[in-house]
This record gives sequence, C-alpha cells and structure tokens, in this order.
Amino acid sequence: MPELPEVETIRLGLSKKIIGLKIKGVEVIQPKSFLGDSKRLQGRKVLKVWRRAKILGVELTPSLRAKRSNPNSEIASLPSAPRNDVVLLFHLKMTGQLIYDNGKRFIGGHPTPDMLKALPNSHTRVIFTFSNGSKLYFNDQRRFGWVKVMQSEELRVQNLFGRLGPEPLEKGFTWQILKNNLLRHKNMPVKVAILDQAVVSGIGNIYASEACFDAGIDPRTKVGQMIDEQFKALHSGIVKSLKAGIKYGGATRAHFVDAEGRKGYFLDYAYVYGKDKKPCKVCGSEIKKIQLGGRGTFFCPACQG
Ligand SMILES: [Zn+2]
Repeated sequence: MPELPEVETIRLGLSKKIIGLKIKGVEVIQPKSFLGDSKRLQGRKVLKVWRRAKILGVELTPSLRAKRSNPNSEIASLPSAPRNDVVLLFHLKMTGQLIYDNGKRFIGGHPTPDMLKALPNSHTRVIFTFSNGSKLYFNDQRRFGWVKVMQSEELRVQNLFGRLGPEPLEKGFTWQILKNNLLRHKNMPVKVAILDQAVVSGIGNIYASEACFDAGIDPRTKVGQMIDEQFKALHSGIVKSLKAGIKYGGATRAHFVDAEGRKGYFLDYAYVYGKDKKPCKVCGSEIKKIQLGGRGTFFCPACQG
C-alpha cells in the first residue's frame, strides 16, 4: 500500500496536470468503486488537489446551477445561494492506479505491466474525460480502492478524517503532540505505536522503521519507557524520513510509479528498510530484521541501542 510520501508524490504530479481542466464526462465501469452521484461532477473545473493522510481530494468549482437560478444579481445572491461545491476523493488502497493520459501518460500508484498498454483495460473502474480531450483512469485490480463524490459540507459533517491523527508534515505537528498521542500506547513497542493512524497519519511500515533509525531508538522500546529527548528525536526522524521519501519520489517497493512515470526509488536511499544482513550505512554493523506486531521491522543494533 502506498504510504504518505507516495500519495504526496501523486498529488504533486497530478496537480501539474489537471488543475484548471473541466470535467466533461465520467464513466463508471465498476459501480462498487464509485460512491456518490457521478453526474454532479460534470462541467466542474478542478481548483486544487490536496491530500489528507493517504486520501487524495480534488476540489471542484461550484456547479453552474446556483448562478443560473439568480441571473440578474449574481453578487447579491451569493450569500444565500446553496453551497453546492463538491469534492472528489480517491483512495488507492492496495492496487489502485491513477493514470492521466493526454497523449502522454502520467501514472501514480501500484504499477502493473498493462498500465502502459491500451486503456481502458480490464482493471479500469472509472474514466474521467476532461474538456481538452484528456482522460484520467482509475484502475484497481483488487477493488479495495474507491472514488467518492461528496459535498464539501458533507465532508465536514461526516468527519471522514476525524479518527486520523495529525498530518506529520504540517506545522501543528509538534514533538509534544507526538508524545501525548504515543502515550496512549504505553506498553506497545514504539515502532508498532507509530503505525496507529490516530497517533500520526500516513506512516506505514517503511517510514516507521526509517524514523526509529533516524532517532537512534530501538524499535522494540516500550513507549512508556521513552524520555523526552527520544520523543523529540523520533518527531524529527518521522519528518525527515517522510521528506526524503517525497524527495526521491516514493518507495512502496519497486512497484510504485509516480505521476511522472518514474519508479519510486526511495528504497535505494533507505537506511534500514529492506536492508537485513546488509552493513549499516552509518556504522557498518549488520542490519537486523525482526517481527514486531506481525510486521517486518528493520534496525541497526549498534545505532539504535
Ligand atoms: Zn548502525
């Protein structure tokens, strides 16, 4: 599953491609993959592409209907006009792909051999057509991913993101917040605790191992035994490893391809993830792999003592 840096990489790439384009049509091939009314998207222009944890949001202009109902006094009618702006949400889950095609392809998500061949293919679930003729394909082999249309107001009310912890790359994420959230899991190994999306959002198995390495903390350390210096170091380790992930275009093994069609290669730069039995880049000791909470966990016994 893509982690925060991979989804952020798709957001950055897709932003360059689709902002300003108008949606001309939406074809839903697999109803299970599409939640909401696809007709609500027609004629709307893409204003912004944002990310919250691993969810991508495409903000669209309000529909023209509100304006048409008040043709004579557009300005005066604005405050009372119904707020009918909608947002389009994507979650790629395990095998989702977003492929933007304007003659050239830009691909984000789980790569498969068929993504460079004719589209749509047997895994295409939804096709968006823009007014300039370009298309955005949502493909998803295993169909756990989804596309959702929601009213912006509905999104606020439903509190879709309410269970998610803070965004690690935003200013509001401080080491004290990380500490307070982690302390809900006093008896848990720290590496397992930071995978809880309510503690901090968007961290998966790769960046959890990398963050502990950067902080010099043994991933098996119980949260309740950590001192403030370690919470500070872990906070900085989380931010640093996520930024490195974005810089190198994402990681998710060799399967991930970003919006420019580049394969993610962060793993070449990773210090511990996937490096078992290899020498530590810092001290030369052998990197160890253990199981923690059922997940492969990598660390350097010397640097993380
Ligand atoms: Zn080391």
